[in-house]
Amino acid sequence: MKIAVAAETRDGEARVALVPELVGKLTALGYDVAVEPGAGMHALLSDDEYVEAGATIDADAITDADVVVSVQPLDVDRIRRLRRGTATVSFLPTTFEQAVVVDLRDCGITAFAMELVPRISRAQSMDALSSQALVAGYRSAIVAAGMLRRFFPLNMTAAGTVQPADVVVLGAGVAGLQAIATSKRLGAVVRAYDVRAAAAEEIRSVGAKSIDLELETLEGSGGYAREMTEDRAARQRELLTPYIAAADALITTAAVPGRQAPMLVTGAMVEQMKPGSVVVDLAAERGGNCELTRPDETVHHKGVIIIGPSNPPALVPYHASQMYSKNIVTFLTHLLGKTGAQQASLPIDTSDEITRETLLTQNGSVVHQRVRELVFASFCMFEEVEDPFFLH
Ligand code: NAD
Repeated sequence: MKIAVAAETRDGEARVALVPELVGKLTALGYDVAVEPGAGMHALLSDDEYVEAGATIDADAITDADVVVSVQPLDVDRIRRLRRGTATVSFLPTTFEQAVVVDLRDCGITAFAMELVPRISRAQSMDALSSQALVAGYRSAIVAAGMLRRFFPLNMTAAGTVQPADVVVLGAGVAGLQAIATSKRLGAVVRAYDVRAAAAEEIRSVGAKSIDLELETLEGSGGYAREMTEDRAARQRELLTPYIAAADALITTAAVPGRQAPMLVTGAMVEQMKPGSVVVDLAAERGGNCELTRPDETVHHKGVIIIGPSNPPALVPYHASQMYSKNIVTFLTHLLGKTGAQQASLPIDTSDEITRETLLTQNGSVVHQRVRELVFASFCMFEEVEDPFFLH
């Protein structure tokens, strides 16, 4: 059984799905590991390191693989090079990438999406959303500290006392809590806000002050937030304005699963910030939490700098790849079992929750019910669909 590691082709993607350090975990189970040339290059991992770890380097690694692992979904040209029945394991944001789902279906690929790993305790070490959000949160604080023309920490020196920076973090999930913890380690005074009730205690536990706006909390399912009504959003923006005006650095990380990012900060709110202040918007790829964010651009607005990296984990590719690889190897070991390498075909057991929840397409069908409905709805919007059962 052969596992191929694809070289990433999307702009700005510097991570790799399997680091040499973890190749041995798969070869020890009997898998052959083949890596496309240069796959680890942007994460500072050479082809030689893969070979030393027991993998082969092969430009055609994906064409006869049983499983292809990648960070981003494969592009259509590469999907068409796979054998029918090949399994792919990657991130695949189904709300935004339905065309890829259809290509995978039509090519008979058995596709798994890492963001659909259920957030249950036995799946924690496969939770790539969390591992990569942690990297993004760390990076956001480093970017804010680097762009700010002031210190983050308090400094009491013979040359006088320097006051610490005020940092505000909006959204205190995995990324937000890491942004808080990193800003605290750098010495800033941090305040944070999140719509979930449980977040206040989590914010305090990493050393920040929790902002209480005395608004109703918004719990959705699975421990995530719920979308705000426009009235609630307007009130939240109004109440947050003085906190944001006082901040030297604002880091926004708010998200609602499957939706565009909530708009938390208007241009008018940014105009209340002091010149030289910095906004780092981690929601840039999903529309941004700040009205002025432009993905991957540095926007200067009345003296305030707004930065919205579209793929922040890729800015720390070495450790982001290491953590993602651990998620991938645990997922593959779970999926294929300890004896998967000895089987004639991939042993996909859909009675298992983790396998079932992450499986998108199999044998030419979209098998994930929610994704199937999404794909159907989006194609009905753009195309004349004569056959209501076109979604086989
Ligand atoms: P996420 O990326 O979907 O959202 C980021 C944060 O934005 C969330 O905390 C959310 O509440 C917040 N948010 C949404 N709308 C907002 C708004 N209008 N204003 C302010 N904040 C807003 O979430 P996430 O970081 O992936 O995780 C969210 C929760 O899931 C956390 O409680 C986390 O601890 C929990 N979690 C559990 C597991 C597990 O059980 N295995 C794993 C990871 C995360």
